[in-house]
Parts: sequence; structure tokens; C-alpha cells
Amino acid sequence: MNDRHASTVLHPPASLGVIGGGQLGRMFVQAAQRMGYRVGVLGMIDDGPGPQVAQWSVIGPPDHLPALRSFAARADAVTVEFENVSAPALRWLERRKVVRPGWRTVWVSQDRLREKAFLARHGLPLAPWRPVRTGAELAGAVADLGTPSILKTAASGYDGKGQARVDDPGDAAAAWAQLGRVACVAEAWVTFASEVSVVVARGADGAAACFPVALNHHERHILDSTSMPAPVGPIVACEARDLALSVAQALGTVGVLTVEFFLTAAGRLVINEIAPRPHNSGHLTIEAAVTGQFEQQVRALCGLPLGGTDLVSPAAMANLLGDLWRDGEPDWDRMGRLDPGVKLHLYGKRTPAPGRKMGHLTVLDPDRDVALARVLAARRALTRP
Ligand code: ADP
Ligand code: MG
Repeated sequence: MNDRHASTVLHPPASLGVIGGGQLGRMFVQAAQRMGYRVGVLGMIDDGPGPQVAQWSVIGPPDHLPALRSFAARADAVTVEFENVSAPALRWLERRKVVRPGWRTVWVSQDRLREKAFLARHGLPLAPWRPVRTGAELAGAVADLGTPSILKTAASGYDGKGQARVDDPGDAAAAWAQLGRVACVAEAWVTFASEVSVVVARGADGAAACFPVALNHHERHILDSTSMPAPVGPIVACEARDLALSVAQALGTVGVLTVEFFLTAAGRLVINEIAPRPHNSGHLTIEAAVTGQFEQQVRALCGLPLGGTDLVSPAAMANLLGDLWRDGEPDWDRMGRLDPGVKLHLYGKRTPAPGRKMGHLTVLDPDRDVALARVLAARRALTRP
């Protein structure tokens, strides 16, 4: 809410720090370096995607005070690449440095129960949901929501991890047991026509800018591809962007925030979840927008004016998961020969694993559907025949 450093502007070569050493941290580092900043990472492993490209790094968990101390000593301003950062640790940092987003935004969005309650309190549209912390709450939730419904652990889920579908009320106890009987959110199953998202940036002065709506396709609960602008009418597009702005404003967040939606066949938008950071569905803005989502994160963090969010061209992105490495290194040459317009991003991860995000591809094309077809064809070309 209160950004105690609201009037601070940091110019290059100030030192920026990002908590988290994965691909989102890496792309933040790259955007900031391009603008002349010096960037450091607080990450768990020395050879991770972030520390590989940063000018300096501190290796340690984000809530480990000695690691945090030496990180804070070297950074003028701090941002995060994920929401699972200890809120007390962020609060400690906020007393010393510019920290954007602030601890409260991170604290709300790192727990699905808090997040749902917050969004509901602000009158934002959600699928019917119930808290599940006891066996009695579970039984009540399934009775109220019906089946199919879905149980999601309140803390630390991503890429569909920490979720279990309940198809029959008799299966609810087993589904919850599978999740370790930890605190969960039970959610009604949404028969959506599509999934869309909006990445929004908000500055310390309250000015905000949304990227166009992204259309997302998931496989096995993991984002598979995104295209932009989403093929939704102007009213839905406007509503989605308004809702994203409302969330950012309600949280008083400074930085980048993403809102994921379900869009029903009747054209109704329901918020699925929020992330207080750049998002996989915004990766194509690196090439396709006047200002990419990571540059926007740098600008918001440093108190610079936000950049323009118009698209230079419609575009599509396809994720490269570790499954592609099953038979060895993907056939990059074949892909390059097939389509010279494909942009390859690899995150520098040493060990591919099924479902692990190793990189992504982006294609710009005047026709969004053609961009999507091209990026999917490029990815198919990577699989050795
Ligand atoms: P994560 O943190 O893993 O991204 P999400 O809540 O976004 O968790 O769920 C991942 C995906 O699972 C969604 O993008 C959607 O495809 C599917 N999903 C999640 N909740 C529901 C629901 N209530 N109804 C239908 N599909 C859902
Ligand atoms: Mg999600």
C-alpha cells in the first residue's frame, strides 16, 4: 500500500537485485542489463538460469537472514521472480531498500485462500470456492460446489502441482489425502471456452499500463502456447484489462502483475489466479511489444515512467518443456531451416526433466493465427524423426 520510497528514482548503473534464480529472474536480469543497470540474483544454485547471467549473485534461500543480509548490502532496489518468498523477509528488506512489489502483494498472492478472500472482498469475479482446512469443511465444500470440482493446495502450487480433481463426492477424502490434507481451496470446475491473461504494470505514482489480452492454451495444466492479441471482442478485452487494473490497484502493487482468467462460452470472465510478477504468457512481449514485460518490471522498480505496451506485431509463443530432450538435444538446425523468423530462448537449465520449462519460442506474424501455427510447427521440427 504505502511505498515508502515512492519518489525514489534509480538510474543506471544502480544495482538491482532479484530474489529467485529461475528463468523469470534471468529475463529480468537481461532486460535490466540492457538498460545499463548492474544486477544481482538471490538464488538457490550457483549454476541456475539467473546466476549464470547476473553480474553478482548470493546463493542461499530467500528467508535465510545471512544470505538476505549480504544480498541487501549489494542491492539498491529489490524485486522478486516468484511469490513464494517469505513475507517477513521482504518486510525486513523493505525497511532498508526499495522493494517492489511490496511484501503485502506477495503475501496475498502466495496463498490461494488469502488470494481468493482478497479478490472476493473486492467484488472481483471468481468461480465458486470454499476453504478446506478440516474434514468437515471438505464435505461441506463438495456438497456446495458439486462435482467435478478441484482441490488446490493453498501454498506453493505451480504448473498444476498441488491440485486434485474430485469427480465424485465419494472421492473427495482420497483427493485431499493425496494432497497431504494441507489447507486447500476447493473450486467449482469451470467449463471455459478459453483461458486468457492480462499482464499489467503499475508505477509508484499509481499510473498503470496493460499489455493486450493473451490467449493461453494449457496441456496437462502447464502453459503450452500463448498468442496475442487474444481473439476476443472489444468488450471482453476491455473488461479483462479493467479487471487486471482493478486487482493491481486494490493490492496497491508497484511492479508487474498478471491476472489469469477463464472465459466462458457466454463471454463471462472469471479470475483464476494472480501472480505478482511477469508471467509465462507475457514472454512474447519481449519481441512483440514496444516494451517487454521484464523491461516494464525494471521501469516500475526503478521509478521510471512505464513503457508503451502496444504490440509491434501479433505474435505467438510456445514453451519448450524437458520432454523435448527425451531423445537427446532437440534439432535446432532443422527448426532454423524451417522458419528463419523463429526466436529461440533457452534458460540455461542443465538437467531437462518432463514438464520442466527449459525455454520458449516466439514468432511474430501480421496474422496471429499464422504466428501460432508457425511457432507450433517450429516446435514440432525440434523433435528428431
Ligand atoms: P497453477 O498455479 O498450476 O497455474 P492454476 O489454478 O492456474 O494453477 O491451474 C492450472 C490450470 O488448470 C489452469 O490454467 C486450467 O487449465 C486448469 N484449471 C485450474 N482450475 C480449474 C477449474 N476450476 N476449472 C477448470 N480448469 C481448471
Ligand atoms: Mg495458473
